[in-house]
Amino acid sequence: MSKKPIVSIVGSINMDLTITTNKMPMQGETVLGNDFATYPGGKGANQAVAAARLGANVNMIGAVGSDSFGKTLLNYLETEGINIEGVHTATNKPTGIANIILSEDDNRIIVASGANKLVLPELVEKHVDLIKHSDVLLLQLEIPIETVMYTLKVASKYNVPIIVNPAPYQPLPDALFKATTYLTPNEIEAESIKNDLLFESIKEKLIVTTGDKGVQYFENGTKQFLPSYQVEVKDTTGAGDTFNGAFATKLGIGASITEAVQFANAAAALSVTKVGAQSGMPKKQEVEQFLK
Ligand code: ATP
Repeated sequence: MSKKPIVSIVGSINMDLTITTNKMPMQGETVLGNDFATYPGGKGANQAVAAARLGANVNMIGAVGSDSFGKTLLNYLETEGINIEGVHTATNKPTGIANIILSEDDNRIIVASGANKLVLPELVEKHVDLIKHSDVLLLQLEIPIETVMYTLKVASKYNVPIIVNPAPYQPLPDALFKATTYLTPNEIEAESIKNDLLFESIKEKLIVTTGDKGVQYFENGTKQFLPSYQVEVKDTTGAGDTFNGAFATKLGIGASITEAVQFANAAAALSVTKVGAQSGMPKKQEVEQFLK
């Protein structure tokens, strides 16, 4: 049997509270919506689930509140086989939530970060051993930026390759670009990075996902483009998170960047054929079958 890569993720854990509606409420208006449902979410947790389903041993470092959402989310992560020893249960902050209103042609989302704000350098410091023994570290930007920067330092010290998914985008310190092995922006986030003064010197670290178009990246200094698969799209939520979890997992077993991008492109394509962010994420065997 091939070795399981160890992927550590320092990131957000949220409960997504979703209401579907035929009509978006206008300012000051109350409308009767349709269905309400809760889904596990947060970019950190989503990418953790993607990597675990695709065969990685995943360490999650993050925080939830000591409320019922927190308990549900921890149980769920454990059911997916994710190591949650690095997840802190806070008593002074609620579990992070995303309030999502979905209509046929629009969505409005507001996030209350809650316990994700407590994912501070001190928490990471307690779990340095997990990072030190990882094959890959995967980060997003839904936790405090000081923690992202601290974690980068730790991983760099132990020569652990670092993938940063710069979402949601915010202006980033030069040191982040320098320390990162790969950055995985989507098309819009990549536009913001192009405005950075460092762009020329870091462009070969970029793996830009462009939805149903494809993936742009560099291999040995040469620009590459891999088209997306044409699939029957049901729900694109979580496509980016599946891509990141898959890319990290493949890189973790020592695959080349092209092999890792190919695997991630296939996993993400499969994820859009099913409804839900985490619930639509494929298993390793499904991706291997799809690639045959
Ligand atoms: P999201 O925020 O919806 O999770 P994102 O904006 O971070 O996604 P995208 O660039 O939209 O990221 O998608 C990531 C990857 O998912 C793409 O590079 C591609 O591999 C796959 N993908 C996304 N949409 C489609 C699609 N319609 N058909 C096939 N593959 C897709």
